Amino acid sequence: MRASRLHLPTLRDPPKDGDTVSHQLLVRGGYIRRVAAGIYSFLPLGVRVVERVKAIVREEMNRAGALEVFLPAVVPAELWQESGRWEKYGPELLRLKDRKNAEFCLGPTHEEVVVDLARKDVRSYRQLPLNFYQIQTKFRDEMRPRAGLMRGREFVMKDAYSFDATVAGAHASYRTMYDAYVRTFERMGLAFRPVEADTGAIGGSMSHEFQVLADSGEDALVACGACTYAANVEKCPSPAPARASLPGDAGPSAIVATPGAKTIDMVCAALGCTPRQMIKAVLYEADGQPVAAFVRGDREANEVKVKAHLGAGLVALADAAWFAKATGLPPGYVGPVAADGSGALGGNGGLGHGGGVRCVADAEVMALTTAVCGANEKQAHRQGVVPVRDCSGLTVADIRMAVPGDPCPQCGAALRGFRGIEVGHVFYLGQKYSQAMNATFVAEDGTEKPFEMGCYGIGVTRIVSAAIEQNHDERGICWPVGLAPYPVVVLPLAIDGPQAATAEAIEAALEARGIDVVRDDRDERPGVKFNDADLVGYPLHIVCGRKAQDGVVEVKIRRTGERFETPVAGLVDRVAAALAAARAGGPLHAAALQ
Ligand code: ATP
Ligand code: MG
Repeated sequence: MRASRLHLPTLRDPPKDGDTVSHQLLVRGGYIRRVAAGIYSFLPLGVRVVERVKAIVREEMNRAGALEVFLPAVVPAELWQESGRWEKYGPELLRLKDRKNAEFCLGPTHEEVVVDLARKDVRSYRQLPLNFYQIQTKFRDEMRPRAGLMRGREFVMKDAYSFDATVAGAHASYRTMYDAYVRTFERMGLAFRPVEADTGAIGGSMSHEFQVLADSGEDALVACGACTYAANVEKCPSPAPARASLPGDAGPSAIVATPGAKTIDMVCAALGCTPRQMIKAVLYEADGQPVAAFVRGDREANEVKVKAHLGAGLVALADAAWFAKATGLPPGYVGPVAADGSGALGGNGGLGHGGGVRCVADAEVMALTTAVCGANEKQAHRQGVVPVRDCSGLTVADIRMAVPGDPCPQCGAALRGFRGIEVGHVFYLGQKYSQAMNATFVAEDGTEKPFEMGCYGIGVTRIVSAAIEQNHDERGICWPVGLAPYPVVVLPLAIDGPQAATAEAIEAALEARGIDVVRDDRDERPGVKFNDADLVGYPLHIVCGRKAQDGVVEVKIRRTGERFETPVAGLVDRVAAALAAARAGGPLHAAALQ
């Protein structure tokens, strides 16, 4: 392919909204263009990378015995009503109406559609197991689309759904997908780790996320250095310290004015305490009801654990004004002890004149011997609180984020922290959807049983961003061979004469071997061509300079910057062999090319 014919609009400057390296490089390298928040057009190079990702995913899914289908993007509301998610899924679901006023949604995930497919056509255990997958554009109206393809509103996902007759069969299907995911991400040349994960809105009881390790990742993870345990901090259980014993001699708690002390640190400075001695209130709206979650001042509340503890469908941080109106409490000064110090909480008419604030405290809060908390009065805090004495009417649970240094839940060694980008997710669903949607088959014993299910997602377009986060330098992208839009670029330094002729011959020979190659035939200065080649990120550069007339070219390995001269004779064979070896996910070796 001639660069002059390839639409390759590279840019010198990053986009204004380029919030991550991968986002900047995708725009600068001429891969994507923004259309609206979280919605992008893919240029020719971008399409090629997405197609590489899809090809690897497809091969590994097929190899694992999954069957490709293609389900509609526009899904009738009735199916989502059957599963109960029409109400529960929340504002990420983009709902629409047709000309007859019938309701639809743009599918953010396809459990309902695939369960409907299976219940219509699968009658007997003899037809099982089955695993259907598709590669499709999804829409989720994300609250904060960010980082280009990383968190889009429209994005491409591979989603697979397994149907089994028994729990043991479903576990085997889960394992098969897990192994296929390991191979998939290895072939893409990504450094990743499977971690235990929360089961979120989809539900179910067993789940792993496949996390690409990157400092810019949104997900905080913990992993044990001593054993194999690794988990998302949302999922990792935190240790529950013993409740403090009731002190015999502690005086009553008292309210003190803390004017202007808006943050934990300001309160600590005003009252001479540490964040560890404070009780922080995090306010939620859970299925329309106000909830106050209390954690120690130096900890973060874990929304996922709060949600699981409450058994709620939809949990989000509460809007302060809404919370104040619903409860009569002053956000910013909420504490687990009622204003009159009675300790009566929750629906007992204590905390909040509206009553009915559900309160939950992390186990660590009840381990404090004495603490400071919000006074439930504006500009005031309560000192000398003895949680085991003063806090009643609340439930106690593990509701905080795990942190590095916490003991490993499996072996007790200290956990280490790292960050990741979730590129894949495997769930064991059990009968959650098959039961709700009455999707049954006739089992071996003649009874009707709901399918045992699993679901398995891969973020196809997110992988493009994640791969760049992990594979770039200050000059541009360094694609792993398996994902590169073109694995090779040929750079003639003159547009005619032996240099151009050599470049053309190498291009033709590579193409004849089925190797995708760009020949930069543009009438540009060498510096411009080199810069573009580095920015776009072709793994292998073949530079045809002055020695081309003697049958010698220069080869550069983009990732390592290694350069060496090599004879044109036999070059195509060496390139083909080196690329083939690197396609399994490994690096390009200079030795094989010389
Ligand atoms: P997240 O926690 O990042 O929102 P999720 O749990 O909602 O992800 P799943 O429903 O499991 O994600 O979707 C399967 C895969 O699709 C994810 O592992 C991720 O790689 C990808 N994905 C999810 N949301 C987006 C998005 N907004 N943009 C791009 N890819 C996404
Ligand atoms: Mg999500």
